[in-house]
Amino acid sequence: MYDYLIVGAGLYGAVFAQQAIKKGKKVLVIEKRDHIAGNAYCEKRAGINVHKFGAHIFHTSNEEVWEYVNQFASFNNYVNSPLANYKGKIYNLPFNMNTFYQMWGTITPDEAKAEIDKQREKYKDTEPSNLEEQALFLGGEDIYEKLIKGYTEKQWGRPATEIPSFIIKRLPFRFTYNNNYFNDPYQGIPKGGYNVLVENLLKGAEVKLGVDFLENKEHYKSIADKIIYTGEIDQYFDYQYGQLEYRSLKFEHELKEDCDNYQGNAVVNYTEREVPFTRIIEHKHFEFGTQPQTVITREYPMDWEKGMEPYYPINDDRNNALYEKYKSLGEADEKVIFGGRLGEYKYYDMDKVIASALKKAEEIL
Ligand code: UDP
Repeated sequence: MYDYLIVGAGLYGAVFAQQAIKKGKKVLVIEKRDHIAGNAYCEKRAGINVHKFGAHIFHTSNEEVWEYVNQFASFNNYVNSPLANYKGKIYNLPFNMNTFYQMWGTITPDEAKAEIDKQREKYKDTEPSNLEEQALFLGGEDIYEKLIKGYTEKQWGRPATEIPSFIIKRLPFRFTYNNNYFNDPYQGIPKGGYNVLVENLLKGAEVKLGVDFLENKEHYKSIADKIIYTGEIDQYFDYQYGQLEYRSLKFEHELKEDCDNYQGNAVVNYTEREVPFTRIIEHKHFEFGTQPQTVITREYPMDWEKGMEPYYPINDDRNNALYEKYKSLGEADEKVIFGGRLGEYKYYDMDKVIASALKKAEEIL
């Protein structure tokens, strides 16, 4: 018998495991994939840590979380400053004075504000109710058309008028020449990749890879006092109220044998609708790599169907209401606790996942 059976060796599961072990609990972690670290997993290729399931950049405003992760890995001083490529022209992200200069030639904050006010004149009195309205309200037409609309619609597979506005509020909009994609005071990539962080979190835990909880649910439920489940909550309950929607991704990884620097930046977004991928990641730049070759990844958004990897929950009203029903089912079962991006059906960043696992651990351990 185990005190805790943790289903999923991603960040939520690994943090909970670490906390439980620290308290002397007996813990088993099972993971259906053949590796730990969930979607933060990195695979070494040509000496480069390749973010196999999409770029992961750690950033947080939560000091406690920052101190916590630094106990298990040291972080480098990478600061994310993605570029946008729109029809062959480069713009800095997030939306800042560099972007405005590239867009309109404005030099001072007052000039940029005046231009944006002109651009958002029609929208400034609206109460934004979807992503399109929110984006127009914030930055006006040029920014929306060139840097947001195409990217967002291919990312989410639906018109921007059907996407919740909170998603665009993730991005800073500022009147300084500052290309830092995040406002958080703490940021970096774990040295040696995310595997190091998660391996260290899982030290002392029994971990079984390639094991699918749902194939033997009753057995696994019987071997532990409590289950921490970090997979999709709707699947756990056999989709009995219907399916939650997710967005999936396809990654095309490519080793460039004759090139040591493909795009000069870790992240370049392709913001026009006609380019089928949303971004190209050049992984070596996350760790300031000097290897003779480089690995790039094109990221293609995909419709999600059963059996595919669910990367993003789609937190619109319909899905959130459905999730609440599953959440109530979950709360009625005292044995199981749901956590993480899939268990809580929430577009969480890594630091929020860690904070959520720490909070849950403090509550119940
Ligand atoms: N976004 C955009 N243009 C960009 C980058 C992002 O319009 O060049 C919007 C888009 O709606 C996206 C959201 O901002 O879904 C959040 O982007 P973020 O980079 O935070 O997404 P993630 O890295 O989590 O996929």
